[in-house]
Amino acid sequence: MKAAVTAVLFVFVVYAFSSSPTAAFAGEKLTVYVVNYPLQYFTERIGGRHVEVVFPASGNVDPASWMPDEATIAAYQKADLIVLNGANYARWVGKVSLPRAKTVNTSSKFKAEYISSAEVTTHSHGPGGKHAHESLAFTTWLDLDLAARQAERIATVLGRKLPEKKEEFERNLAALTRDLMALDGELKGIVAKAPGTPLIGSHPVYDYLARRYGLKLRSVHWEPDETPSLEEWNNLTHLRKEHLARWMLWEEEPLPGVVRKLEKLGVKSVVFDPAGNIPASGDFLAVMKENARNLRAAYEK
Ligand SMILES: [Zn+2]
Repeated sequence: MKAAVTAVLFVFVVYAFSSSPTAAFAGEKLTVYVVNYPLQYFTERIGGRHVEVVFPASGNVDPASWMPDEATIAAYQKADLIVLNGANYARWVGKVSLPRAKTVNTSSKFKAEYISSAEVTTHSHGPGGKHAHESLAFTTWLDLDLAARQAERIATVLGRKLPEKKEEFERNLAALTRDLMALDGELKGIVAKAPGTPLIGSHPVYDYLARRYGLKLRSVHWEPDETPSLEEWNNLTHLRKEHLARWMLWEEEPLPGVVRKLEKLGVKSVVFDPAGNIPASGDFLAVMKENARNLRAAYEK
């Protein structure tokens, strides 16, 4: 009897070690490091209690231009999985060495659909320091169909790491995809009301949104917490001679003085938050729903 129990135990132990090399024991969580908030949200929805998702950037930085310190980079390197956005998002990723076997580029399957922005953008001199936008647009998830494909990639990789949870991940992915595609339909419906409406993006982060939903959008390079220079105001006036927009999209609430000055020019401000970092309240879906509500104003006569 005792020998039989030992044998069963032995088989169990061998099974536990051989079947899932990255998570040897049932109940052990995968540690997943991500490079922005949307990826954190997707990974948490898909992985549920089987993942510990870490996004170590503090709430007041733009993860696209953030540079993690050495200890944080070491923590990324030690994770079970490193989830990247791709499209050159988070420039630091290209400057350090991350273990290839652990990294997953969630947008690599749709590289052919990356957008190269033709509009060259100026530098900004805000508290976050100077930054320029390279030719490749990276806010891929604002096209919710692309977001769903990024989520799909996460589910595939999690399923490979924890094969015994694969079906659970697939169910969670299906629920997330339903939510994302409901929003996708809502945004299409909003724009369909007045598809030709010209808009101005205050920052060049809306390329994927514009392409997917047919926004007639041109962008400047302003910051919500800064007063634009005289030159920037002149550029806007110039732009509006050929693109008479009455609405400007902002990443967050702009300064009241800027809002007033824009209103005098006939331009109203509306927030469409890309949610690259963790929102002050609500989650990714809540922020996107709020964005849709805000955008609706620009398309209603
Ligand atoms: Zn910028």
